[in-house]
Amino acid sequence: MSLSYPKHHLIKSGPIYSCQVCNSKKLHTVLDLGHQPLCDTLLSKETINEPEKTYPLRMIWCENCTCVQLDYCVDGSEVYHPDYPYRSGITKELAEYQKKISNSLIERYNLTSKDLVIDVGSNDGTLLSGFKEAGIKVVGVEPTNIAKIANANGILTIQSFFDIKTASKIKEKYGPASLVITTNTFAHMQTLGEFIMGAYSLLSKDGVFINETHYLLDVIAGGQFDTIYHEHLRTYSLKAYIKLFEQYDFTITDVERGDRYGGNIRVYATKGKGKKVNPSVKRLLQYEKKFGLGKLSTFQKFADRVKKARLEFMDFLIKTKKTGKLVVGNSCPARASTLLNYYGVDSELLPYIAEQSTSLKLNKFLPGKHIPIINNQRLIDEQPNFVVILAWHYAKPIMEQLKKRGLKSDFVIPLPDFQIVKNSKV
Ligand SMILES: [Zn+2]
Repeated sequence: MSLSYPKHHLIKSGPIYSCQVCNSKKLHTVLDLGHQPLCDTLLSKETINEPEKTYPLRMIWCENCTCVQLDYCVDGSEVYHPDYPYRSGITKELAEYQKKISNSLIERYNLTSKDLVIDVGSNDGTLLSGFKEAGIKVVGVEPTNIAKIANANGILTIQSFFDIKTASKIKEKYGPASLVITTNTFAHMQTLGEFIMGAYSLLSKDGVFINETHYLLDVIAGGQFDTIYHEHLRTYSLKAYIKLFEQYDFTITDVERGDRYGGNIRVYATKGKGKKVNPSVKRLLQYEKKFGLGKLSTFQKFADRVKKARLEFMDFLIKTKKTGKLVVGNSCPARASTLLNYYGVDSELLPYIAEQSTSLKLNKFLPGKHIPIINNQRLIDEQPNFVVILAWHYAKPIMEQLKKRGLKSDFVIPLPDFQIVKNSKV
C-alpha cells in the first residue's frame, strides 16, 4: 500500500504561495491584519523587556476550493512552545459534549467490544472514556504531557505526534481502527498529508475518519475575523473538505453542524471511493453556494463589516477616554490578541484585561500591545464605566455572570457589529 500524499499537504514554514488544500494559485486577500505576534505567546514580567517577534497575518480566500487560510506559516515549534498556555482541566460543558459524541457514534456505527476507536489530540481522554465505558477498545494519541494524566485515568494514550509512523505502530499493536476521531486539530497542523494518510493506514475497510473543526460559513456569517491567528492555518468550508479528501482514497459521507468554537462542522470521511453519501452533504454544499462562499464579493462584504466595526469601536474608545471614563477588557481568549493588535488598542486605551482567578494567563501581558491580564476581582472592586467582552462569542453568559457577581458597568460587544449593552438590559 502506497502511503504517499500530495507535496502541498506538507505545509512548510514561511510564506505560502498556493492553496494549502487544492494547490490553486487563485488566492485573494480578504483582510491584511498586519504583522502580529503569536496570540498564545504571552509576555511575562521578564520577557516584556526582550524583543518580540511578529509574523505576517493575512486572511486569504481560495477561489477554487473556498478554503480560507493564511499565506504565512509559523513553524509549529515556535507556536507550541513549552509555555503554551494549554488548559489541562477540561470544562464540565466540554466533557458533557464529548460524552454525547461518543454515545451518538456508538449507536450510529453499532460499535461493540471488537471495535477500536482512536482519538488524535485526545487531551486527558475525556472523549474516549465514553467509548471505554461502553466496552469499546480505545487508544488516544496526544503529544503533550496531558497524555500522562489520561494514562493515569485509565485511558490508554500514546504520547506522540500523529503521523504515518505512529499510526503503523498503533495498528501493529492494537489492530485496525473502526473510527479515527480528531477534534479541533485540523485547522492547525502543518503535516496535513501525514495526518490523513496516518488515519487512512490505521482504519479498517470502510472505517471512518471523523473530523471536527470551526466552520468557515459561521466565521463569515458571524463577522468572526478574530478567529484568524497563526495557529489557525486553515478555516474549512465543506467544499474545501471535499476538495481535500478527493486527493485521497476517501469519500465524504456525512456532515453535521454544531455550535462549538463559534460554529463548527463535523465531517465524516469513509475509507474508499464511491461510498453512500448522506443527503446532508449535498444540502450543505448547496447552502454554501447560496450563501456565497464561492464568490469574492461575499468576502469583500465581510471585510467591509469588520472595518466598520473597528472604526466604531475605536471611535467609541477614544471619545470615552477623552471624557475621563474607564473602559477595560474582560477575558483573554486567543482571539483577543488578533482583535486588539489589528485595532491598535494598547494599555493607554484599555488599561487591563480581567481574567478569572484560575487562568494561566493571569499576571502576564497581551502579546504585541502589552496590556496586563489581571484577576477579575478588580472589576468588582473598581466598577469601570465600560467592560469590553473580548470572548464576545460567549457574551451573554459572561455578562450575566459578571452582573451576578455585582458588576454594575455597561458592556461593549465588539463584533460582529459594535454594540453597547446597558447593564440594566443584561
Ligand atoms: Zn484551494
